[in-house]
Amino acid sequence: MTKYIQAKILPGVTHWQSPNYFAYYPSNSSVAGFVGEMLSAGLNIVGFSWIASPAATELEMIVLDWLAKMLKLPEDFLSAGRGGGVIQGTASEAVLVVLLAARDKVLRRVGKDALEKLVVYASDQTHSSLQKACQMAGIHPENCRLLKATSSTNYALSPEFLSETISQDLTIGLIPFFLCATVGTTSSTAVDPLLSLGKIAKSNGMWFHVDAAYAGSACVCPEFRHYMDGVEVADSFNMNAHKWFLTNFDCSALWVKDRSALVQALSTNPEYLKNKITETMDGITTVWLGKPAMLYKKSYQVGQTF
Ligand code: PLP
Repeated sequence: MTKYIQAKILPGVTHWQSPNYFAYYPSNSSVAGFVGEMLSAGLNIVGFSWIASPAATELEMIVLDWLAKMLKLPEDFLSAGRGGGVIQGTASEAVLVVLLAARDKVLRRVGKDALEKLVVYASDQTHSSLQKACQMAGIHPENCRLLKATSSTNYALSPEFLSETISQDLTIGLIPFFLCATVGTTSSTAVDPLLSLGKIAKSNGMWFHVDAAYAGSACVCPEFRHYMDGVEVADSFNMNAHKWFLTNFDCSALWVKDRSALVQALSTNPEYLKNKITETMDGITTVWLGKPAMLYKKSYQVGQTF
């Protein structure tokens, strides 16, 4: 078996774990990450709802609150209030999930026929996962505005340029609904000015997502935390533990201020997942990715028993 792996598999693998590997991102694993993987593989938990294995969801909540505190995220992102964190496979999934939540939220307000008028904004330095998410969410390609960022702003998105573009779109009857800013772009680690951009998003009723997939991990260090100043005006924030946080692939941490936006956009209700506990939760019986634990905990105060 070992011989076969060495002969047939290893020659065809890019060894990200090698100390001699310097492309893309650093090797991401660690002994702690490896032990975590072993525990996860050994238990092989199916955590499709809180009741299926409460410890899985409870642990996810505890760790994401703990990580949010390390990053000094505003309290609105903690699970004690209306927000909370949820683990995604990748940052690409994270942006898709929040784009869908934002899309559904705006369509509930303006009517579902308005899909073709919805507009997304970001700089042209933004990771291509945003464009892919737009394709999957049915946003018209011509309504995905990737605004040019130049060396004059260190490749950050200019708030003035954003404002002008939004105004032009509004005058032709389009509906700006989503802004994605980046802390640490893939090509050059450029940092968008979160506070100014977020204020523009808020004044136009848009969802503001911050993609810190790459550089977010560094912001646990007090000397780098200032790069995410302004995150208090964001609706969602994402960082990849699997990039710079010594965690095996795949582990992308996503936080939102209003978890009900995700629950409403992504819940399903099949017969085989119904149970008494979740049925008492405002008609939401099966909620995407473990969120019932949060609702359950908040409504019935039983979280402490786990
Ligand atoms: N956003 C940024 C800034 C990135 O650097 C990357 C990864 O290269 C992504 C998003 C996509 O991350 P993932 O591979 O986890 O989808």
